Amino acid sequence: MSKQQRAKLVVGNWKMHGRLAANAALLQAVAQGADELPADVRVGVCVPSLYLAQTQALLDGSRVVWGVQDVSAFTHGAYTGEVAAPMVSDFGATFAIVGHSERRAYHRESAELVAVKTQRALDAGLTPIVCVGETLEEREAGATEQVVGTQLDEVLAKLSADEATRLVVAYEPVWAIGTGKSATSEQAQAVHAFLRARLAAKGAADVPLLYGGSVKPDNAEELFRQADIDGGLIGGASLKDQDFLAICKAAAATSVAG
Ligand code: PEP
Repeated sequence: MSKQQRAKLVVGNWKMHGRLAANAALLQAVAQGADELPADVRVGVCVPSLYLAQTQALLDGSRVVWGVQDVSAFTHGAYTGEVAAPMVSDFGATFAIVGHSERRAYHRESAELVAVKTQRALDAGLTPIVCVGETLEEREAGATEQVVGTQLDEVLAKLSADEATRLVVAYEPVWAIGTGKSATSEQAQAVHAFLRARLAAKGAADVPLLYGGSVKPDNAEELFRQADIDGGLIGGASLKDQDFLAICKAAAATSVAG
């Protein structure tokens, strides 16, 4: 499938932000704004799992789909504090982010654990958004492709070709997350092309590839115009309805129908 045929996808990652009242206002504004987007722009929000029921109630019937930011590597059992993928599915969710760099760094999640979580999400009928990305030291050492390639390969090795086609992959350079310092569109495109080739070798060339890392209304369109960038995973800017919707509109400007 050519770039022209791939839909755009913009997903918000709220991280550990939100309260009931603020969520309601944000979700309602996003649902309303999404109504005006062309059909080939998909919009999602990944909320703290505690707010799944609220999100489902407010977004059901809208253009916006929802998900969580992590799932357990287990389906059930004595794992205090964990949330299992089938529980997430119970609330009509579409997405589960796995392998976000904050979980890899602060929760010591290994590439192997991320691969297991990906499988659990798929088994529960969720679409995993598999995050990969290098640190600044790794980039400066010229190891970007080796790092993101290994992170992706660990996941792909555990999946069938059919399962691989059901992924979303997000390239999120660690040095660009929450820093206000986005990768340039050339830097991002180069890594996306590399990841696309890796996915193509597994028969999954058309997997949506999202860029994440300080995407803002003023840099989104340039990033989304790149051949292998199919949209964005948006952190900080997804907490402000105007900014998030402006980023969705940037995706629309680069979509076929937009
Ligand atoms: C993220 O954490 O997934 C992210 C992309 O964050 P930000 O947009 O704030 O850099």
